Amino acid sequence: MDADSKVARVPSSLPMTDAALADAPQVDPHSLVPLLQEVFGYPAFRGHQQAIVEHASAGGDALVLMPTGGGKSLCYQVPAIARHRAGLGVAVIVSPLIALMHDQVGALEEAGVHAAFLNSSQEGDEARQVERELVSGRLVMLYAAPERILTPRFLAMLDSLHERGRLSLFAIDEAHCVSQWGHDFREEYLGLSALHERYAGVPRLALTATADAHTRADIVQRLQLEDAQVFVASFDRPNIRYTIVEKDNARTQLLRFLRDEHEGDAGIVYCQSRKKVEETAAWLAAEGFDALPYHAGLDAALRRRHQDRFLREDGIVMVATIAFGMGIDKPDVRFVAHLDLPKNIEGYYQETGRAGRDGEPADAWMAYGLADVVNQRRMIDEGEAEEDFKRLQRGKLDALLALAEAHDCRRARLLAYFGEDQGDAANDRDRPAGWRSLCCDNCASPPATWDATEAARKALSCIYRFQQHNGLSFGAGHLIDVLRGKATDKTRQHGHETLSTFGIGADVSEAQWRGVLRQLIALGHLRSEGDYGTLALTPTAREVLRGDVQLLLRVATEPQRRGRSSRSGTGKADKPPPLPLDDDGQERFTALKAWRAEVAKAHNLPAYVVFHDATLAEMARSAPQSLDDLAGITGVGAKKLEAYGTEILRLMRPPH
Ligand code: ADP
Repeated sequence: MDADSKVARVPSSLPMTDAALADAPQVDPHSLVPLLQEVFGYPAFRGHQQAIVEHASAGGDALVLMPTGGGKSLCYQVPAIARHRAGLGVAVIVSPLIALMHDQVGALEEAGVHAAFLNSSQEGDEARQVERELVSGRLVMLYAAPERILTPRFLAMLDSLHERGRLSLFAIDEAHCVSQWGHDFREEYLGLSALHERYAGVPRLALTATADAHTRADIVQRLQLEDAQVFVASFDRPNIRYTIVEKDNARTQLLRFLRDEHEGDAGIVYCQSRKKVEETAAWLAAEGFDALPYHAGLDAALRRRHQDRFLREDGIVMVATIAFGMGIDKPDVRFVAHLDLPKNIEGYYQETGRAGRDGEPADAWMAYGLADVVNQRRMIDEGEAEEDFKRLQRGKLDALLALAEAHDCRRARLLAYFGEDQGDAANDRDRPAGWRSLCCDNCASPPATWDATEAARKALSCIYRFQQHNGLSFGAGHLIDVLRGKATDKTRQHGHETLSTFGIGADVSEAQWRGVLRQLIALGHLRSEGDYGTLALTPTAREVLRGDVQLLLRVATEPQRRGRSSRSGTGKADKPPPLPLDDDGQERFTALKAWRAEVAKAHNLPAYVVFHDATLAEMARSAPQSLDDLAGITGVGAKKLEAYGTEILRLMRPPH
C-alpha cells in the first residue's frame, strides 16, 4: 500500500480519544528553566518567553508576536524538548525558508537536541533516513516547508504519529506569510489550517515579527487560532539606533557611514532594483569592502554561495534587494542601510530588524529624497492592484514618509505605529549604557525646525497658478525655480516669469523647498503624477491654502557627522566599550576565535552556532579554570560543555 492510498482512508479529523487525552503525560512547569539552562546555557527566559513556554508546554495554542531578535525560536524549541522528554513525541516546525533550516538544525544538534529537516535539497536516501527517525519518534523537532508538510506522504506519517499520541506540537514560523495583506504572502501557507482540522488537540504556536492589526487578524482567522492565547511583546529594539538622512550624494553618504561607523562589520545594504544592487556591490568592492550582490535574478547557486559567505565569514557587506533577508538569523549583523525607501513601515521595521539580533549595538541607516517619494507613489498608482488596496498602500507609504520627515524621536514613532505608546520613556529604556541618548539621530542631535506654513501655501498657490495660466502641471525642479525666481529657458517658454508667484520664495533655499514638497506629498496635499512626476493639488490642499494646516519642518541640513566630530577615536566612541580585555584576555579571545573557526568548518556550520562572540568574550575575560566555572557562562549548555569543555579549558592556560 502506498502512502497516498493510506491517506485516502484516514478520516479528515483524528482527535485523540478522551481517554488518551486524560492519560497524556504532563510537562512539569518547574522543569522549564532548568531545561533552558541545561540545553541552551541561558540563565533565564526573557520577556514573555516564560509565559509562552509554559502555555505551550501545557498544550495551549498561542499566537506570538515578537520582534526580530526577541527570541521566538526558544518559544517553541523549549516546549518541543519538554514535551518530547515527557513522551509526547515530535514537534513539527513549519518554516518557509529551506536555506536556513540547515543552520537551525545544526545549532540544535550542537546543543544535543535531535532535530532534522526535510526539504527539496536532500537526496532520496537522506530523506528516507529522516522519515524513519520521524516515524520512530526519536526526533525532537522536524523542520519542513509548508508545501512538504501538506503532501499526502507526509500527512500519512503525521497521522501515524498522531494516532500514537506522538505528535507534540506544531510551530508555524513566519506566520504572517498566511496573510495577503502582509508583505510576504505565500500561497502554501493557506493550506496550514488543515493541520488544526486534522490534528485536533495538538497545540499550535504561530509566530511572527509582523504586528500590524490587519495581518494579525488574518493570521488568527486563516489558521483558526481564535482560541489561542495571544502574546504581544514590545516591538522596541533598544540596541538599534535609527538614522535617516536626506539624500545628497547617497554613495558618499553611505561611504562615510560605513567608514566612520562600521569598518570591518557585517551588514546589509538594501537597494530597490537588481541593477542598483549590482552597481552598488561593485562600487563598494572597489572601495575595499567585502561586498557581495544578492537578488532574485542571480543564478541560484551564486545566491546560495553569497548567502553562505555572509553567514559564515566575518565582515561581509551584502548588497541586496528585499529578496534577501527573511529567515537570516545571523546574530551579529551590525548595520542595515537603505539606499532606497522601503514600501512601508512594516518593511522598514522588518529589514532594519535584521541588525543586532545578538543584542549588541547596531545601526539602522537610511538615505532618502524627493525622488524616492515620487517613485514609490508612482509604483502604487500605476500598479495593477484594486483601488482599495492602492489606498491602503498609499496610507502605509505616508506613514513611512512621516517617519522619515520626523523631527522628534523616530523610535517613539515606530512604536506608536505598532500601537505602543510609551512616550519618552521608550527612548532610554533598556538602552545599553553609553547608547542612552543615541536612540535615533533626532534624539542624539535634535534638528532645528522652521515654520513652513507660509512656504507651503506659496508652493501650492504657485501650482494653482500654473494650472490657471495654461492648464499645465510641472515637476518639482521647475516649481522651485519659479518660486525662487530663477529665470530659465523653461520659465521663459511658459511665460512663468509673469506669474505673481515668480520669486515669492527666494528666501527659502532649494533644499528647504524640497523638504516642503516632500512633506506636502507625504501629508497627501500634493500628488506626483506621470512619468515626469508633475505635481498636482489634491482636495485637501485647500486646507493648507487657507492656512488651517501648520507645517513644522526640520531644517534641511548639510550632511555631517552626527555631532561626534569632537570625539576622538574611530567614530565608534558611542558604542559601549567592549568588555575590557587585558592583553592576556585578548590573546585568549583570539585563540578561542581561531578554535571556533575550526570547529565550525569541521561541522559545516556558521561560527555563531558553535558559540556567540559574547560567550567567547566572556570566556576570555573570566578565564574559567574548571568545567564548573565554564558551565556558569551564558551560552554554555550541558552538551557543549561535554563536547568542548576540555578543549576550551586548555586554551585558557597561560601561554609559556
Ligand atoms: P527571533 O527568531 O525572534 O528573531 P531568535 O530566536 O533568533 O530571535 O533569538 C535571538 C537571539 O537571542 C539568539 O541568539 C538567541 O540565542 C538569543 N536568546 C533568545 N532567548 C534568550 C534567553 N532567554 N537568554 C539568552 N539569549 C537568548
